Amino acid sequence: MSDSVQPILDKVLSGERLTSEDCTVLLESRDFVRIGLAAHEIRLRKNEPDVVTYIIDRNINYTNVCNVVCTFCAFYRRPGKPDTYVHSIEEICKRIDETIVLGGTGVLMQGGLHPDFGIEWYEDLLRTLKAEYPGFQLHCFSPPEIHNIHLISGLDYATIMQRLKDAGLNSLPGGGGEILDDEVRKRVSTKCTTQEWLDVMRAVHKVGLRSTATMMFGIGDNISHRVKHLQRVRDVQDETGGFTAFIPWTFQRENTALGRKITVEPTGIDYLQMLAVSRLFLDNIQHIQASWLTQGLKLGQTALGFGADDMGSIMIEENVVSAAGASTCANERDLRYQIRGAGYRPQQRDILYNYVDRENIDELDGSDSMKLGQLSVAFAD
Ligand code: SF4
Repeated sequence: MSDSVQPILDKVLSGERLTSEDCTVLLESRDFVRIGLAAHEIRLRKNEPDVVTYIIDRNINYTNVCNVVCTFCAFYRRPGKPDTYVHSIEEICKRIDETIVLGGTGVLMQGGLHPDFGIEWYEDLLRTLKAEYPGFQLHCFSPPEIHNIHLISGLDYATIMQRLKDAGLNSLPGGGGEILDDEVRKRVSTKCTTQEWLDVMRAVHKVGLRSTATMMFGIGDNISHRVKHLQRVRDVQDETGGFTAFIPWTFQRENTALGRKITVEPTGIDYLQMLAVSRLFLDNIQHIQASWLTQGLKLGQTALGFGADDMGSIMIEENVVSAAGASTCANERDLRYQIRGAGYRPQQRDILYNYVDRENIDELDGSDSMKLGQLSVAFAD
């Protein structure tokens, strides 16, 4: 074990901010347990220590038509191809109705970069949904979609965001971040540059909306690219304070053009270490989310000891990373079971991390299957 990380961990535990050089040392170290312990300590100080939150929402991908090509994406279809779709408003409402029945509070809606959708299309969609479901949160359209509206409608980002907010948008998902460094981005996608992604987020926060920030690593990036990504997110957060959470995950390779070329994949430990270092470096972001959908439920649960304080969403529907091979499913009971198994009280939240309390939620926990201890007795009988 190297001792080089301890002075850095002491520094962060005493409240000092890490430099990008510190961040590099932590990511290069193999001392992931010590790094994880420090991240967990910071998480306990920053968030309610006995609680892990989760959200009930639904991913709706309103279209798979996409005007650009990302080599890591197995979801998009080029305009005019036979298996393209655009959901009707009735289809979207049906999915929202199903989400509400399950106790859902919002929808995460994203789609491909459709070549014909100007801002009016998005405004109409938001207005219709807000009229139909006034209290339901609309967490929609990642920065590449906002940039696409800019290209089609010729409006600047701040005008777009103000108009979408006025139409009913509640917050923005941080998708499309991948690695925020053009050396990597330009090799794998043409959807928007690092600067454009960051500038959309500045505009989102400027009009008073909040957003998440994400990172997808393992797409040909190295540690120096990951450090630059974290530094850029932290810098924007210093300016605006608008990010609610940071969510790192690893590239899902199946059915993707890039997946056929990449020979070295991040391991489970690489994921946990990235998560822990994110918690330590991003001292200005309140929540760090475990990505159980991409890492599996058990590694997602383990992430709760490496700096994560939130388990994300139950997955009623997901089409993008599942097209690339992420196949884990979980309902609310499963997620609560994993959270309690890690020693925390599960707590539903909304998109802005406000607690949501539903009647009879304890009955759901009571319906867990027999405990392991009881099971072994049953087998012995
Ligand atoms: S990741 Fe998004 S922008 Fe890129 S090809 Fe897929 S749908 Fe299009």
